Amino acid sequence: MIPVSSTARRMTSSAIREILKITQRPEVISFAGGLPAPELFPVDPIRAAADRVLAEHGRQALQYSTTEGHLPLRRWIAERSEITADMVQITTGSQQGLDLLGRVLIDPGDIVLVESPTYLGALQAFTPYAPRFVEVATDDDGIIPEALDELLGRVDGRLLYTVPTFQNPTGRTLSAQRRLALLEITRRHLVTVIEDGPYNELRFRGQEVETLFSLARRTTPDDDLNVIMLGTFSKVLAPGLRDAWVQGPRHVIDKLVQAKQAADLHSPTLNQMIITELLDDVLAEQIKIIREAYGQRAAIMIDAVARELPTGVSCTDPDGGMFCWVSLPDESIDTEAMLPEAVANNVAYVPGRPFYAAGERRNTLRLSYATSTEDQIRTGIADLGRVIAERLSSRPAADAPL
Ligand code: PMP
Repeated sequence: MIPVSSTARRMTSSAIREILKITQRPEVISFAGGLPAPELFPVDPIRAAADRVLAEHGRQALQYSTTEGHLPLRRWIAERSEITADMVQITTGSQQGLDLLGRVLIDPGDIVLVESPTYLGALQAFTPYAPRFVEVATDDDGIIPEALDELLGRVDGRLLYTVPTFQNPTGRTLSAQRRLALLEITRRHLVTVIEDGPYNELRFRGQEVETLFSLARRTTPDDDLNVIMLGTFSKVLAPGLRDAWVQGPRHVIDKLVQAKQAADLHSPTLNQMIITELLDDVLAEQIKIIREAYGQRAAIMIDAVARELPTGVSCTDPDGGMFCWVSLPDESIDTEAMLPEAVANNVAYVPGRPFYAAGERRNTLRLSYATSTEDQIRTGIADLGRVIAERLSSRPAADAPL
């Protein structure tokens, strides 16, 4: 056997990918995937844009290009945040942005604070850099500022990774007031914030909230910002384009450029040029279409959950994004152990456990409404309701003699 490095030994494969394998029978209604709805991908506009790019840029679109990314694309991203293009690094998906940030910001043993629960892809991206993860308590409004402050009084947190808007996996959004509190607390404790925002544009209800990045810039010069933000075209155009970005202070972007040069030289030139062609009108139209579709699907799912899941089961009620998060009333119920039963009843979800960095909470699960039809949502949630009811009724009564 060829020995692998200690870094490689720390790597794990995504629990979700393993789970998806067993949910792939065609008759299974799957709420497990984190995929955007493929029928909404702008296939024709992408084809037309590719033709235009190849006609106008020719071989330049197929040539190596700069590590920082295609300048017109970086300029467009920068303008939206009223920053300069040298504060933007294009990445091959935000997943690469997370990996590169891990490389640039984490020393072995550093304490990285994450929401409880958090995006498991971030845990996977940071783990090779050997941080110690510490969970921050959350409620329906996201991270609880008092809990964060108290925690930072006890532990020497270096980084906070957060998905404050329509979080994966819970769908929750950090309230406007808490955003200000979080910034004040992290600045006071000298903590760098990584704000991951893949779902920011996907609001189907309620008031827009300003990003942490934008709020931080109101009071802090760009070079002193403690917030780095990630954005992506995966959820608003198509994830297969693998095009995303990191925006932050120039000294961090400079390091990311070096890290990215070593990783893959640059993100695909052709894809960046195609996306640049779509920015003016197609993107805005896509966002409208996706918001409307996900809004409808979410409403149907939340309604079905309220009617079909047994009393005592709670579910988040997202204002945007792709996910809701279900908690079962009995802590002893293990949603991982329940999954084969659900799949046997033709419905699938993702068990909550892998989304916790340290905790062992097993009575939660994630549902995605993004890729299912109205009928599938109603049928699938009714089936899930029966599976949960069965589990709840077969558990030993709390006062049963041992
Ligand atoms: N961050 C979060 C919170 C996500 O949910 C995802 C996608 N599942 C990513 C990052 C990665 O997205 P991308 O396709 O841009 O790599």
